[in-house]
Parts: sequence; structure tokens; C-alpha cells
Amino acid sequence: MTAETLGFQTEAKQLLHLMIHSLYSNKEIFLRELISNASDAVDKLRFEALADSSLYEDSPDLRVRIDADVDARTITIHDNGIGMSREEAIEHLGTIAKSGTSQFLNGLSGDQKKDAQLIGQFGVGFYSAFIVADKVVVETRRAGLAADKAVRWTCEGEAEYTIEDIEKSDRGTSVTLHLKEDAEEYANDLRVRSTIKKYSDHIAVPIEIKKLAPQSEEEGTEPAADEYQAINTATALWTRPRNDIKDEEYKEFYKYVSHDFEDPITWSHNRVEGKLDYTSLLYIPSHAPFDLHNREVSRGLKLYIQRTFIMDDASQFLPLYLRFVKGVLDSSDLPLNVSREILQGSPAVDSIRGALVKRVLDMLDKMAKETPDVYAKFWTEFGGVLKEGPAEDSTNAEKIGGLFRYASTKTEGDVLSASFSDYISRMKDSQDKIYYLVADSLTAARNSTYLEVFQKQGVEVLLLTDRLDEWTISHLYEFDGKQFQDITKGELDESIVGSPDKDDESKTESSTDVMDKIKTSLNGRVDSVRATRRLTDSPACLVYAEHALSPQMRKMMEAAGQPVPEDKPILEVNINHPLVAKLSEEAGDEKSGELAELLYDQAVLSAGEQLDNPSLFVKRLNQLLFEERS
Ligand code: ADP
Repeated sequence: MTAETLGFQTEAKQLLHLMIHSLYSNKEIFLRELISNASDAVDKLRFEALADSSLYEDSPDLRVRIDADVDARTITIHDNGIGMSREEAIEHLGTIAKSGTSQFLNGLSGDQKKDAQLIGQFGVGFYSAFIVADKVVVETRRAGLAADKAVRWTCEGEAEYTIEDIEKSDRGTSVTLHLKEDAEEYANDLRVRSTIKKYSDHIAVPIEIKKLAPQSEEEGTEPAADEYQAINTATALWTRPRNDIKDEEYKEFYKYVSHDFEDPITWSHNRVEGKLDYTSLLYIPSHAPFDLHNREVSRGLKLYIQRTFIMDDASQFLPLYLRFVKGVLDSSDLPLNVSREILQGSPAVDSIRGALVKRVLDMLDKMAKETPDVYAKFWTEFGGVLKEGPAEDSTNAEKIGGLFRYASTKTEGDVLSASFSDYISRMKDSQDKIYYLVADSLTAARNSTYLEVFQKQGVEVLLLTDRLDEWTISHLYEFDGKQFQDITKGELDESIVGSPDKDDESKTESSTDVMDKIKTSLNGRVDSVRATRRLTDSPACLVYAEHALSPQMRKMMEAAGQPVPEDKPILEVNINHPLVAKLSEEAGDEKSGELAELLYDQAVLSAGEQLDNPSLFVKRLNQLLFEERS
């Protein structure tokens, strides 16, 4: 096949446009991304060659080479890795396969500074070449294919690229960047050396660059033409002892494995010897990737077996609720020819997975205790995913629950800083439950009528405003032996509302008639009507049975198209409230019926629910106001 001009997929085009036109403060990261791809390609060759050593052809020494030419204003990254076939080049370099890409790109603001930050969460990889280059030429041949089955991929603009057949005797890929005028510095020899050094020291493959010309005194001495030297020590970072590794190196390695632009929040590097032998280096990123909530996307743990790269996205080693963790696992106990299927049933994998989960949870716990401010940032970014934990991993439910943070009636503003342990430490002596309230927003929660008696008694209530919260709590059951109690459900303990005195009893008795009247008026919409002990100021509230679904859960289930059982609420009425007194004085059926409707509608609104007929409520309210005035 001869030369062909092809259009980029829309998403690739958008990303390319952004790369070409966005001003990056840190343009040199293109080199990290391309070296990372080159070293991945070498890793992949080594892996495929485990099954077919002929892929090494006649050059088993794997390496990445970088050539820069300041006069031609080019920089080229060569690797003798796996290479790409024509189809692969079209697929990998002309399209972006990450799902959710177009929503992400469409959501960018157009403000270059903000977008440049967001794009870091996306991980741009190969396209970062266009930050500094206006023309990129890729020559590549897949290992094992004939020399004339190589291709040249050329892109000079934003819309299309050409692909043509070429001959290439050595396998692998070379990526040549024709630098923009203002990016000439990246081809400068010293600059290239220092940048490569920075980005490649921790990489296990030798990264080579031409030897510097010897500073010869004698005229006419030619420098050795094609002599290369490795610029890195080419030892995989995780195999080195912890004490020898600087924080900066850990951070660079993170960016290399994750394609993230920002530093990680924290990491944990451990070597385990004994029944199982493995090394893990696990990182917590500082921000969520754009597709964090997509449970299908690939995750960030790379599996190596005895230093040989086996696979990206070794999802068997971490549960879904820890899918934000990135890093490397190097095991000596698994066979080199391991497949995802073998991993699935392996006891060694289960055991390593258990240990890694513990390691991550301990790392988070330490962060929460030692640097609560840093932890607060983590919680904002990843809390939503961690909340899937108790349902997915009941063994560690309590440990995971210990990492949760909420707003509470004892904390200020909208900070989520109350943990269950904090709550328990502030509990009253007589209290044995953890009380919580679920609401659509923090403002709604803080002003909720359900809090009245708790505020009067000085009892703390956790305020849950995330749509997952209630579901999560239902999988936790209890924390540190204390049960959870939704304050809108069931009867409240006497430790909160106090035991009823004589006065209460006689009032309740004398209000039986009015309760019956209200129940009749509401005509089957409530299960029962009873005197409340939750309210001090408001006239009424809706309460659900202990195990009934809350309105929020109902909404979630309805939205998911699931059948929702019909649970009628109980209307609790404040017999000390003037509206209730008025209702009880009212003799006429019609009038008391209207007041009962008003009472009910207010209770519905206070519960954060919608009225079936809002305009009728408004009409009744106005009628009442008008009567009061006249
Ligand atoms: P990512 O590396 O995150 O998948 P990139 O945009 O950097 O995304 O690269 C896209 C794909 O192109 C890679 O997954 C790989 O299949 C292919 N690729 C890029 N560079 C090389 C290379 N030097 N050798 C072989 N394949 C490569």
C-alpha cells in the first residue's frame, strides 16, 4: 500500500489542537512522555519475546536512544522495542481509545491556564510532542515483521496525517520532532542531557545519547561519530533500597508510570520476603483522573515478574474501591507466562491483594492522622470511590469506615472533618448510637427540623449529603460497636428525648382526637399520626419505620429503574404548636381538613421532598395568612 492521508478521530483532533495552542509552563514534559512510551515499547517486546524469542531478531540489547540536532531543530527518540504495524499506528496514533474523552474535552473551559491543569488529569502521552513540535514523523516497524513492512506516519497539522510504507531494517520506533521556532532550546545538547537525566534516571532501560565530542587540543581530531553512552543507571527504581531513593526520584517515577503532571500526595514502597516474595511501590495521586467514576476503565498498577514487565492494569491486585492507586508490583512467586485468567484463581494473588489493601488503608490512615489538611484534599478527590469500600470489601469495612469524613452539627461550615471516631469521642455518656441525617445539601441538613431535639440536648448528628452516603452506611452496620441511626426513622431513644413525664402523658392522651382527625383528613397518605418528641419549634415532620427506605434511597432506586416498595410515612405532630392547637379547636370538617393538609405539606417540604400539588399548598397558605390578618 502506498501513501495515504487520513483524518484524526474527532477527540484526537481536539486534543491535538489543545497541545498546539495551549501554552504550557512546563513544556519539557513531552520528553518524559515519549521516553515513557519508548520504554513501555521495550518492556512489551521483552514480554512478547518470552513466548517467541525470534522477536529479538539479531539485536537482543534493548535500549532507547535520543538524538538532537540544534541546526536542523530536531529531536528524535528511537527505541528498539515492539514497534507498530500499519494498523496499529493508525489505531494508536490517530485515535484516543479512552471512554469519556469527548465529554472531558468538551468540558474544558477554553481558558488556557485552567485547561492546562485539567489536561494533566487526562494524561496526554504521545500528543504532548505537539507542545513543542509543529511536525512529527514516526517511523516504526513491528518486531517480527519484514523490513519492508515498516511505516512512516507524518503529521504537520491538526486535522490529518499521512501514512506510507517504508523500509526499516531495525525494529522498533523512532519519533522525530521538528521543533517550533520558539522551542529550539530543546535540541540544545546540554539542555537535552539535563532533561533526559531528570526524566530517565529511574527507568530500567538504558537511555542513550551520543557521547560528547572530546575536547581535543589537536586540530583535525574528529570526535568519534556514533558512540552512544547510557545517561541513566538503568536500574528499576523499586529494586533499589528505600534509603537510597530521594523523594524527587519517587515523584519523577510516579509521573513516568502514571502520565500525571502533578506530584503524588504520598507513596509506600515495601519489599516483602518470606512465604511470598514481592516488592510494591504504591502511590496516591493528588487529584482524581477525569474518568475516576467509570468503573470499567483501566487502573494503574503495573505488574512485573522478576523485573520483567507483564501487564499494565493488573486489576486483580487491588479492589475497585482503591482504583485510584497507581504504581508497580514486582513478584517472584508467579510464573512468567501468567495470564489474567491464571491471576484470577491464584492463592498467591489473593494473599498479595490482601496485603496491598492493608498497605493502602494504613497509608491513608497515617495521612489522616499526621496531616489532616492533606487528607482533607484526598477525601475531596477520592472519598466518593472509597465509599464503595464497605459494600465491596466487608472484611475491611470498619477500617475503611475509619477513613470517612463528614460534616456534623459539631463542625463549622462545609468542611468534612468529622470521623466516626471523633464522633464517638464526643458522645454523651448515656448515648450508644451514632446519629446521622441524610439531606440533599448541607444548608438543608443544617436547618433541618429533625435536628431540633438533638440541638436542644446537645447531641451531635452527622450530616450526610452525598448520594452514596446512606447506601455506604447501610453496608457498615456499625462502627466500634456503635450502631448507626438515621434520625428520621423509627422512635428515638429515651437517652435523647427523655422519658415522658405526667404532663406529656396527659397531653398525648388529650390529643388523641386531633390525631384521628388528621389521619382521616389525610386519607391513606400516612401510615399513622402520632405526637412527636423530636420537634421543639416546628409543627410536624414525617418519620419512616426503622427499616423503611428513606426518600433519598427511594429516589436513587427509582432513577435506576428498580421497583420501590410502598412505605407510607408516619406523621409526627408537635402538640405544643399553635397550628395544631388551632386544628384541634376547629370544629368544621372542611376547615380542619385544610389545616391537616397544610401540616402534612410542611412536613413533606421539611423532609426535602416534593409536593404533589405545590400550587394548592400556596393557595392554602395564603388563605391562612389572609384569615390571620382579617
Ligand atoms: P498511552 O501511552 O497512555 O496509551 P499514548 O498517546 O502515549 O497513550 O500512546 C498511544 C499508544 O501508541 C500506546 O498505547 C502504544 O500502543 C502506541 N505507542 C506510542 N509510542 C510508541 C512506541 N514508541 N512504540 C510502540 N508503540 C507506541
